Amino acid sequence: MSGEKTIFKKIIDREIPADIIYEDELCLAFKDVNPQAPVHVLVIPKKEIVSISHLEPEDMELAGHLFLTVGKLAEMLGLDEGYRTIVNTGKAGGQTVDHLHLHLLGGRSLQWPPG
Ligand code: C5P
Repeated sequence: MSGEKTIFKKIIDREIPADIIYEDELCLAFKDVNPQAPVHVLVIPKKEIVSISHLEPEDMELAGHLFLTVGKLAEMLGLDEGYRTIVNTGKAGGQTVDHLHLHLLGGRSLQWPPG
C-alpha cells in the first residue's frame, strides 16, 4: 500500500465530506455520491483493508460485523422487499477505490446478472 490516503480513509478522518448515515467503533456507512439505485450506501471498515483479497484471519470478526451492519442498515432504511450487497474486488472486478467497501443497493427492482 502506498503512503497516499484513499478517498475513503479521508472520509473516515473527516478530511473530505460525506453523507454519513451510520458509524460505530469498527465501521462507517455513507451515501454513495453516484447512486445507482434510490438507496445506495457504502459500508466501510475504519481499518485500512484494500479488498476482500487482503482480509487476514484476524479480520474475521470485522468482516462479519460489516455484513451485520448491512443488514441493520437495510432494516433502518426500510428495504423490506430486498436489496443487493456487492463487493467489487480488483480492477477486473470493478473496484475503483482501494479500501474495502460493501455496496448496499435497494429501493428498486434490481436486475440479474449485473454487467
Ligand atoms: O466498487 P467501487 O470501487 O467501484 O465503488 C466505489 C464507489 O465509491 C463508487 O460507487 C463511487 O460512486 C463511490 N464514491 C463515493 N464518494 C467518493 C468517491 C467515490 O461515494 N468521494
